[in-house]
Amino acid sequence: MKTSIVEFHCSQCGTKFRAAAVSDFAYGIMLCRTPGGEVRYVDCFEDPVFGEIERMIDALRIEPLDDGRAAAAQREAFGLSCDPSVNGERFHAGVAPLCPQCGTARGERGQEPVDFVNLDAVTHDRWGALSDAQRRELVREVLRF
Ligand SMILES: [Zn+2]
Repeated sequence: MKTSIVEFHCSQCGTKFRAAAVSDFAYGIMLCRTPGGEVRYVDCFEDPVFGEIERMIDALRIEPLDDGRAAAAQREAFGLSCDPSVNGERFHAGVAPLCPQCGTARGERGQEPVDFVNLDAVTHDRWGALSDAQRRELVREVLRF
């Protein structure tokens, strides 16, 4: 998938850096990032694991979570379902890029693309090899926090 590279401006230390971003109009597309800056995407409507995790969270939660908390748990669990990057780092779904200088994920995002990049979709080979019980256990751990 082709997406834009935009400029981010770290609100913590003022560093300007470039990172991949999706347009607000790219409905259902979410970026997954490693702490080291590798980026992949997920099309939430196309990726069957996204819906699978949503259903598991609905089935597992004892108390109703508010929508924000449920969405955060879903992103967290989805990141766990993704195969790690080539460097063995975990992908985190739907997070802002980390400032390369101070490691903060808070900043202003520029709107104008300064470049474009082709991203691969996340894969779920490791998740696919787990049993239903192992998958539920992973999601249950996310819900404990
Ligand atoms: Zn910074």
